[in-house]
Amino acid sequence: MNIDGKDIDKMREIDFVSSELWQLAEQVETDIADEFAEIHRIQQTNEQKVLQAFRSHRISEGHLMETTGYGYHDRGRDGLDHLFAEVFDAEDALVRPHFVSGTHALTVALFGVLRPGDRLISITGAPYDTMEEVIGLSGNNNGSLKEFGVRYEQLELLKDGTPDFAAIEQRVAGAKVAYIQRSRGYSLRPALPVSVISRIATLVHRVSPETIVMVDNCYGEFVDTVEPTSVGADLMVGSLIKNAGGGLAKSGGYIAGKKRWIEQAAYRLTSPGMGKEVGASLGQNRAMYMGLFFAPSVVASSVKVSAFSVKLFEQLGFGGYPQKGEVRSDIITALQLGSAEALIAFCEGIQSGSPIDSYVHPEPWEMPGYQEKVIMAAGTFTSGASIELSADAPLKEPYAVWLQGGLTYYTGKMGVLLAAQSMIDRGFGTISK
Ligand SMILES: *Cc1c(COP(=O)(O)O)cnc(C)c1O
Repeated sequence: MNIDGKDIDKMREIDFVSSELWQLAEQVETDIADEFAEIHRIQQTNEQKVLQAFRSHRISEGHLMETTGYGYHDRGRDGLDHLFAEVFDAEDALVRPHFVSGTHALTVALFGVLRPGDRLISITGAPYDTMEEVIGLSGNNNGSLKEFGVRYEQLELLKDGTPDFAAIEQRVAGAKVAYIQRSRGYSLRPALPVSVISRIATLVHRVSPETIVMVDNCYGEFVDTVEPTSVGADLMVGSLIKNAGGGLAKSGGYIAGKKRWIEQAAYRLTSPGMGKEVGASLGQNRAMYMGLFFAPSVVASSVKVSAFSVKLFEQLGFGGYPQKGEVRSDIITALQLGSAEALIAFCEGIQSGSPIDSYVHPEPWEMPGYQEKVIMAAGTFTSGASIELSADAPLKEPYAVWLQGGLTYYTGKMGVLLAAQSMIDRGFGTISK
């Protein structure tokens, strides 16, 4: 808008970051217009699926109400299970605020279906860090699957980050659970496309029809138009303070898949015989319904923030993942910034661009379980919610920062620009003319 001959909007932009950086950002957005168009196409398909599920299950005001006590006949809780099952093309689902985290939902699913003497085989290498103590790979083994007599085996990914199909074919027979992690997590391997998960599921079921194909779907929901359970996975698990909660769920997780395994997981979450029939929703239904409704849009914003940041940092001279042409299958970005100082500058910028605690100064700290210091940036409405813009970087080789989230595209973009400016101000990265 022009007032007294001054372009007020332009002044505001330049106030935020340098005009050179702002111009570069505009160029980057033009360069990746085709990627954005593809993200919007996926978003539209997913929003249609979600709206259709609300219509077909006749969700009404009554579903949004609170229940207390045992929570018998909680229509809202049951309706939410139906919605998730439909949207994920699953037979059934267990969607609860009572899951304290993604790790808890994964744990409930594993303990729900595994019995002493069974074998669990991970076919995508080492699982997410927090699963190590659950399986019994680290820690004191108190209460782990190992302590309960569940055996564990791990197939490594090939050098290019793809699954070893030959090894799967040789080793999967007789395993109770074949475990797949879709997201790259905090590694530099690529996220597994749903099409590859489909190939794995087909192979596993051919060689070993009784084996349960279970997918850790954290960070993956709504990044594509189909989910692992649409293409052969028997069980799929995720967190509601990541993608599937749309930034609105205050806590919780979900398990979706074959009815038989959902029942076993529900028996583990509550108790045998009671399963899904109990559990007061304690006023969380409305946020979880709205969260699912918003999730495809929020995930699309996060994926756009990722695409924008990879391209922007490439222009500034830094490598990033996912690389051009890679199929996107999670919301995570890894940027290789080259030094500890650059990582710190980046995280300070992200923190300063957060809606909550923007004035806080993040410090590297000795995180339990890590050899080197780690710096994190997050200023979120929901504590620890990584569907909101956030970044983590261990201060060691390969000096990479993992960035994820963005409730809206433009606020995410601002955060990333502040991170870039913070680096440029300290001499990291240059804008080539
Ligand atoms: C986040 C995440 C989990 C679970 O983590 P929580 O912090 O317990 O929610 C598991 N696997 C992957 C790949 C994740 O990204």
